[in-house]
Amino acid sequence: MRAVVTGGAGFLGSHLVDRLVRDGWDVVAIDNLVTGSPDNLVPALATGKASLVHQDVIQRCEVDGEVEFVFHLASPASPVDFERLPFEVLRVGSVGTLNALEFAHRKGAGFLMASTSEVYGDPLISPQPETYLGNVNPIGIRAVYDEGKRYSEAATMAYHRYRGLDTRIVRFFNTYGPRMRLDDGRVVPNFIAQALAGRPLTVYGDGEQTRSFGYVDDAVDGVCRLAASGYHDPVNLGSQWEFRVIDFARLVIELTGSGSEIEYRPALPDDPKQRRPDTSRAETVLGWRPTTSLEDGLRATIAWFRDRLGT
Ligand code: UDP
Repeated sequence: MRAVVTGGAGFLGSHLVDRLVRDGWDVVAIDNLVTGSPDNLVPALATGKASLVHQDVIQRCEVDGEVEFVFHLASPASPVDFERLPFEVLRVGSVGTLNALEFAHRKGAGFLMASTSEVYGDPLISPQPETYLGNVNPIGIRAVYDEGKRYSEAATMAYHRYRGLDTRIVRFFNTYGPRMRLDDGRVVPNFIAQALAGRPLTVYGDGEQTRSFGYVDDAVDGVCRLAASGYHDPVNLGSQWEFRVIDFARLVIELTGSGSEIEYRPALPDDPKQRRPDTSRAETVLGWRPTTSLEDGLRATIAWFRDRLGT
């Protein structure tokens, strides 16, 4: 069995490549290396069962030979990237997804679209079930990503309905773990790097906004179950454990044993106020539940950051 993972050199992508290799797949990772890094694939490449193709799915998505499944994960994913790379984000969420869908269709392969909790925007209900249609600002600063992912979901369903493509859609909620970019700008790498350096942890706004953090191994396990399931509607994957950002900052300080203080910065525009997945669909359809506690996941992530930062 041979799989293609777009964004395979990225944070989530590379963990998925590792898992697929462990499960006996041959894997081709496609990446333009804008936010991904070949370093993430060192263990997978060493097995001889994975390869990396430097290709930008915005331009083309093509791999010779038979392919049974395409996992489409390619996209910058940090709010910092949405401002740094707005046109790349727009293109990969539109043309990039169409190229990946067309590729899967040509190969007669299954297709999994990596979508996001951002399709719910700044949600007005909590927790968010897959049936919630969202509250997205189409002209806001995050719209390049949010609307791109919504478009990607629409395109995926169109290929399923009108071309018979065997599709899946997963909506990830704040996934974290080793291999997140140190300068990615998201809250997990920011707080850990700040705490390890003894610098103040930068809390945006009053810190009352909430997120639910899901460990990457659990997310990847959900992806593999979904790929095997034959289920076509979207499935949320994330943790039920909802945290205020201010409490998350305190937890990172505690787990790193840091003497860092907390520094309040201006709130970000369009920052969602709450986010927590309703995961009953994943439980019912996939028999999936996250098994990694936030403390265990954070300890593993902190250890990885320590190693990278030499602290
Ligand atoms: N955040 C923060 N300080 C930081 C980075 C992020 O307070 O240094 C907040 C951000 O405003 C948001 C939450 O943490 O409310 C999660 O942000 P992140 O960029 O990780 O992902 P998002 O869920 O917003 O896509």
